[in-house]
Parts: sequence; structure tokens; C-alpha cells
Amino acid sequence: MAAEQQQTMAGDGEVKRILVTGGSGLVGNGIRIALKDRPHVRQENEEWIFISSKDGNLLDRESTENIFKKHKPTHVIHLAALVGGLFRNLKYNLDFLRDNLAINDNVLECCKKYNVKKLVSCLSTCIFPNKTEYPIDETMIHNGPPHDSNFGYSYAKRMIDVQNRAYNKQHGCHFTAVIPTNVYGPYDNFNLEDGHVLPGLINKVYTAKKDNTEFTVWGTGCPRRQFIYSVDLGELMIWTMRSYPEIDPIILSVGEEDEVSIKEAAEMVVDAMQFKGKVVYDTTKSDGQFKKTASNSKLRKYRPDFQFTPFKQAIKETVEWFEGNIDIVRF
Ligand code: NAP
Ligand code: GDP
Repeated sequence: MAAEQQQTMAGDGEVKRILVTGGSGLVGNGIRIALKDRPHVRQENEEWIFISSKDGNLLDRESTENIFKKHKPTHVIHLAALVGGLFRNLKYNLDFLRDNLAINDNVLECCKKYNVKKLVSCLSTCIFPNKTEYPIDETMIHNGPPHDSNFGYSYAKRMIDVQNRAYNKQHGCHFTAVIPTNVYGPYDNFNLEDGHVLPGLINKVYTAKKDNTEFTVWGTGCPRRQFIYSVDLGELMIWTMRSYPEIDPIILSVGEEDEVSIKEAAEMVVDAMQFKGKVVYDTTKSDGQFKKTASNSKLRKYRPDFQFTPFKQAIKETVEWFEGNIDIVRF
């Protein structure tokens, strides 16, 4: 697939060319859906270019340079990464470290070299110190070692924050980052070994219904997570790219009061998919980090009125997308 482009009506004034790396993934599609389905999000004079690994391998410097030479972006949202849930991270810490360090170094250096006016990259709340006070806020990223399950991914992601500050100090670049909590939505990776918990639960309920078997939730169901719908995240990332003025990152999350246990999330999936069979917990599987409760007060300072899609509705929309797109689902 060649890079996909969406152009908003060009009126007078300079057109922004916004390149989205990782544009074919969960979050990239969240941005795309927000632009398509939420009229208040659209803005004139923007050309959006969504690229995937088929447009070039960002692990390779020359290939990355070619993408910048071809598209000449004025703005970049950098999503491309080696991404995975707890169980993929546990197995491949070295790959997560090396691939993400390389991709980020190539993209950030090209953004400087090709005079990109603003870059927004993507961190994650799972990169924060394991031993910490709650709620976590943006100032705490580097305060101690991350959880051992995903230290490779975490240190690579933390370096984006270090690079953003260094590019700003040495070259005056406007490079910043967002820190989302657990994301879910259409176009997620529903593979059981590689993916995150919500797509995993949806996949398992789908199979249990089809085969008339039990639905197995991994771990105790006690860990707690804040989930953000990819389309809400997409809308907030577009706002970050247009309006967020800082170099320091910003947490994009629902409130602390909206944190749920894995058990509650599993029950929500069971309801949305009208599963009537038995639910069991496989406590031989890892629970991972118990919680990573994040504060969204900085976001609320900038966007006091932003409305998150209610969890139940967003799960319903995700399940509907999954059931309606079985032939293209990433399994
Ligand atoms: P995803 O669905 O797995 O998508 C990953 C994207 O990166 C795909 O477009 C993929 O292209 C591209 N990509 C991977 N390796 C590449 C390479 N070597 N060269 C070029 N493109 C490459 O991931 P996601 O969940 O949307 O994650 C997007 C960003 O959000 C990541 O930076 C991730 O760390 C961050 N984040 C995700 C979560 C979450 O819960 N999912 C939470 C917090 C932060 P192909 O489609 O061609 O493979
Ligand atoms: P994390 O938030 O970075 O830890 O990553 P995940 O999105 O993979 O969530 C992991 C949590 O969900 C752990 O407590 C797992 O034990 C639990 N879990 C329950 N069932 C599943 C599943 O099917 N897939 C995944 N990835 N995690 C599951």
C-alpha cells in the first residue's frame, strides 16, 4: 500500500503537510477516524499523510531519509514502533530496546535535518518507574527503573523525552511527546501472544462463543488499568500537534476515577459480546505491573471540556468493528 493521503479543504494560507509514521496501526487509525468522523476536528489547510512499513523501513536511515525527501512534511506525528502487550514484551526486551531506539533516532534526526516545524512522538504510561507514588505525573518519567517485564521498551521510549529536550536545547527544535495509557479500538492487534489485554479478551470471547468453550482471562484479574479509546486519543493527538506549546510531554488519559480492574474490563467485553458461557482466570499467567495510575490534570488544564467516549460505548464500537471486519483483523 502506498502512503494514504487525506486533504482538508485548502483555503488561503500555508498548507501543513502532516506525516504520520505508523499510520496503519491502532493509533494511526484513531487519528484517521477522528479526522473522518468528527467534523469539529477537521481544519482547513492540512494535508495528512499516513505511512506504514510498506512505505519504507524506519529502522534504516536511508529509507527514512527517502520518506522525508519524498513527502517533505512540515509536521510529524511519530507513532511507528515495535509495540506489544505484556507477554510479547516479556519475551523480546532486547528487540523492543534496539528497534525502538533505532526507529526513534532515525525519525528524530530526519525531523531536524529536514526542518520539520513540530514533531509529536508517543511514549506510554508503562515506561514510568515501577516503584512510584500515585498518581503518576509527567515529571516522574526518569525517577527510577521501569517494571522489569518491559524494561527494553521503557528505556527506549524514555530516550525520546531526553532527545526532545536535547534537540530543543541544541537546535531549537519543537519536538514533544504524548503519554497515553492503554489504548484500544478498531485496527488493534488482536493476536493473543503479541497484543494488549482488551483485543486479547475480545479475541478469546469470540473463540469461546464460536467453539462453545470457556473464556480464559490471564492472571488474577486484579491489576488495574486506565483505557483510552483510540479515536479519543487520535483527536487529542491532533490537538497536541496543532496547539500544545511545551517540549515536556503530556499524559493523555481518562481520569483516575475511570481506572478499572482487568476483571471489570473482561466483564465489559462479556456483556458487549453477549457471552453466556463460563469465565475462568488462569493465575499461572503473569499479572504484570499491578497499576500505573496516571494523573490527567495537565491535560485538564489545557482541555477542561474534552469529553471521553464512555468505556461501554467505545468497547461496543470496538467489538462491532472486530465482528464486522474479521477478514482484515490482525490475529
Ligand atoms: P501498532 O498498531 O502495532 O502499529 C505500529 C505501526 O508502526 C504500524 O503502522 C507499523 O507498520 C509501524 N511500524 C512498525 N515498525 C516499523 C518500521 N520498522 N518501519 C516503518 N513502520 C513501522 O501500534 P499502536 O498501538 O498503534 O502504537 C502506536 C504508538 O503508540 C507507538 O509508538 C506505541 O508505543 C504507542 N502506544 C501504544 C499503546 C497501546 O496500548 N497500543 C499505549 C501507549 C503508547 P505496519 O502496519 O506496516 O506493520
Ligand atoms: P500492560 O498494560 O502493559 O501490562 O499490557 P497488557 O495490555 O498486555 O495488559 C496486561 C494485563 O492484562 C496483565 O494483568 C495480564 O495478566 C492481563 N490479561 C488478561 N488477559 C489477557 C490477554 O488475553 N492478553 C493480554 N495481553 N493480557 C491479559
